Amino acid sequence: MKPFAQMPQKYVGGLGFLVSDIDDTLTLHGVLPAKVYSSLQAIRATGTLVILITGRPAGWCDMIARFWPVDAVVGENGSFYFKPEGGSIKRVWVDNAATRAANLVRLSSMAEKIVAEFPGTALAEDNPWRATDVAVDFAEDVAPLPLKVAEQICSRFIGMGATAKVSSIHVNAWIGSYDKLSMFERLLADEFNTHVQDILDKAIYTGDSPNDAPMFRRFDLSVGMKSVTEYSMEAEDMPKYLTKGDGADGFLEVAARILQDHSYLIKRENS
Ligand SMILES: [Mg+2]
Repeated sequence: MKPFAQMPQKYVGGLGFLVSDIDDTLTLHGVLPAKVYSSLQAIRATGTLVILITGRPAGWCDMIARFWPVDAVVGENGSFYFKPEGGSIKRVWVDNAATRAANLVRLSSMAEKIVAEFPGTALAEDNPWRATDVAVDFAEDVAPLPLKVAEQICSRFIGMGATAKVSSIHVNAWIGSYDKLSMFERLLADEFNTHVQDILDKAIYTGDSPNDAPMFRRFDLSVGMKSVTEYSMEAEDMPKYLTKGDGADGFLEVAARILQDHSYLIKRENS
């Protein structure tokens, strides 16, 4: 990983896509600073598409797609995307409604067993708004437990036949092989008529934890918030660049750079 300040200005024709995780990337200590929200708005106003990719529930993503300055949101670690369209929301899911309901029943019973096995954990408070996955809280509304515990929970879910990933606050588990990247690829193809390999020189990804690994690997311009170094991750799963600040502070370094590059491009075009 190189310091973010060393990231080359590759996107000569302007940045096409800002793709970002939410928790501990746009937020800091559980709060979304106003400055981050207005940066998203400013970046979008330059013509850059803003796409958020999160482990957060469908219920949250519905609100984000309706109210935030975004072009689309991928939620529950890749089980769907929601896209604002003509005053309404287009919803695309990996699984149909019957499969989603059956999977939730299986996942809930796994999560209940796991919470009983790992003292100090709890079913995450945002589970009622989830449509396809289940989250075990190890650091949000419970006293934070070591990451090692989160990794053990992850392995336990996998042993029970689920897919599982550690975020900065939860262990999320779901049924199926999709992830943040597979749904992002589908969104690009279906809605923006392009492919990841064709946008690598004009797309930035920002994230902070192991559930961002598929995106960190795929993007040339992948940026990790400083706290990403606290996780045990394989070298190829790490972002290419690292910010100086944690969470929102790190993101604002990236946002400032995007806006600065944009005004430089405009000045150059006008001169
Ligand atoms: Mg995160």
